[in-house]
Amino acid sequence: MTAPASYDVRNPATEQIVTTVAMADVGQTDEVVARARRAFDTWRQVAPADRARLLRRFAEQVDAHVEELARLEVANAGHTIGNARWEAGNVRDVLTYYSAAPERLFGRQIPVAGGIDVTFKEPLGVIGVIVPWNFPMPIAGWGFAPALAAGNTVVLKPAELTPLTAIRLGELALEAGIPEGVFTVLPGRGSIVGQRFVEHPDVRKIVFTGSTEVGKAIMAGCAQQVKRVTLELGGKSANVVFADADLEKAAATAPYAVFDNAGQDCCARSRILVQREAYDRFMGLLEPAVKGVRVEDPSLDTAEMGPLISRAQWETVASFVPDDAPVAFRGSAPQGPGFWFPPTVLTPEDPADRAVTEEIFGPVVVVVPFDDEADAVRMANEGQYGLSGSIWTNDLGRALRVSRGIETGNLSVNSHSSVRYSTPFGGFKQSGLGRELGPDALDAFSEVKNVYIATEG
Ligand code: NAD
Repeated sequence: MTAPASYDVRNPATEQIVTTVAMADVGQTDEVVARARRAFDTWRQVAPADRARLLRRFAEQVDAHVEELARLEVANAGHTIGNARWEAGNVRDVLTYYSAAPERLFGRQIPVAGGIDVTFKEPLGVIGVIVPWNFPMPIAGWGFAPALAAGNTVVLKPAELTPLTAIRLGELALEAGIPEGVFTVLPGRGSIVGQRFVEHPDVRKIVFTGSTEVGKAIMAGCAQQVKRVTLELGGKSANVVFADADLEKAAATAPYAVFDNAGQDCCARSRILVQREAYDRFMGLLEPAVKGVRVEDPSLDTAEMGPLISRAQWETVASFVPDDAPVAFRGSAPQGPGFWFPPTVLTPEDPADRAVTEEIFGPVVVVVPFDDEADAVRMANEGQYGLSGSIWTNDLGRALRVSRGIETGNLSVNSHSSVRYSTPFGGFKQSGLGRELGPDALDAFSEVKNVYIATEG
C-alpha cells in the first residue's frame, strides 16, 4: 500500500480540518537535498558578518510574525496562546543568540615544533532536522539556528501532525533574504522523508527529536555512514520534594511542571517524589492547585492547558487511567469535540506500575513517597530515562548532593525551568545523545580540522 500524498491537519481543540498539506516523496526529498548541497558551497563562503546579519534579519522577520505564528500553532497543535507566543519568541531569540556565532567560530593555535598548528571549525554540509509534534517551533529552531550559523545548510522535516509553523518559518527565512536552498522545510512522513534523510549520503548529520524507539532506529541507520547524530528522546522526570522545602510553592507549581502543554513535554516532571513525613500535607496543597488549572479553549488568554494532539494520543494517555486506576484527584476539562483530558493525579503503590515507569506524554502524574535522601536519588534514577527533573529543598548542601546524584541532563532547584537557549540541553541514558543550545552547540554542527604549516625548510 502506498502512503497518501497529502495529510489533513486537524485542530485538536475542535477536531476540524485546518488545511491539507502535501507530503513529499523520495524523489522530491532527493531534489531538496541536492539543492541544499549546492547551496552549501556558497553559504559556507558567505562572509561571517554577512551570515550573522542574515540570521538577525531572519530573527527580525520571526519577531514581526510572532502573533501569526502563535495563532497558527494554537490551531494546529492546540497549544495555549500564551505558550505559543513564547514558542515563536523562542525561535527569534535562538536565531539572535546564534547570529553572534559566525564571527566567533574560533579555532586554536597550538604550540608545535618546526611550524605552526591551527585548527578550523568546518561546517559539515547538509543537516537533516527531524522534529516531533509536541513543540514544533522551538525544537525546529534549536536545530536549524546553530546549524546555519556554523555554515551548514538545513533540510527540515516537521511532524506529520504539525507542519504549519515550520512551513511558515521556511517562508520567513526566504523573505529575510536567506538564500534559496539554505533552509528548506519539507513536510512528509517519517518513514519516507525522515528515513531518506538518514539514508542520503549528502545529508551529513541528523538532528532528531522524538521517541526513544525511533531515535534508536535512526542511530542504527546513521551508523551505516558514520553519520553524525544528535538525539533528544523521551523522559520520565522526577520532581523531588523534601520535607524541609517551601511546600506551598512546591505544590502550587508542581501541576505546571507536568500539565504544561497537556503533559506532552519531554521534560514533564511526571513523577512527584515526596518525603514521607510531608506527604499528607503536600497532597492537601496539591489538590486545589490541580483543580485550579484552567483547561479551556487554547485561544483564550486565560487558558493554561489545551487538548491532547490527536485521538490516538488520547487513547494512549487514557490507557494509563483504567477504571480501577488509583486516582487521588482530577482537574476538569471541556466536554464535546476535541481531544480533552483532565489533569489527573495517581497514587500507585506498585513501583512497577506502568504509570510509574513509562513516559505517558499526557496530563497524568504519579505521586510516590520516599524515606530519605538516598531513597530519593535511587528512585529518581530508576528507569531508562534521564532528561530533566526538579529538587525542592531549603538545604543547600542537600540540593547540591542530590543534583550531583541524579543521572539527568537538566535539573532545577526550587523551580521547574529546564530550557534556556543560552544553556545546554539534552539527556543522560536513553533520553538522548549530545547537547543542544548553549554556547557549545556549534561544536555539534562543525568538524575540527587541524592544519600544520612548516616554517622551517
Ligand atoms: P516520533 O519518534 O514518532 O516522531 C518524531 C519525528 O520522527 C516525526 O517527524 C516523525 O515523522 C519522524 N519519524 C518517524 N519515524 C521515522 C523514521 N523511521 N525515520 C525518520 N524519521 C522518522 O515522536 P513523536 O511522537 O512525534 O514525539 C513524541 C516523543 O518525542 C516523546 O517520546 C517525547 O519525549 C520526545 N521528545 C523529546 C524531546 C527532547 O528534547 N528530549 C523533546 C520533545 C519530544
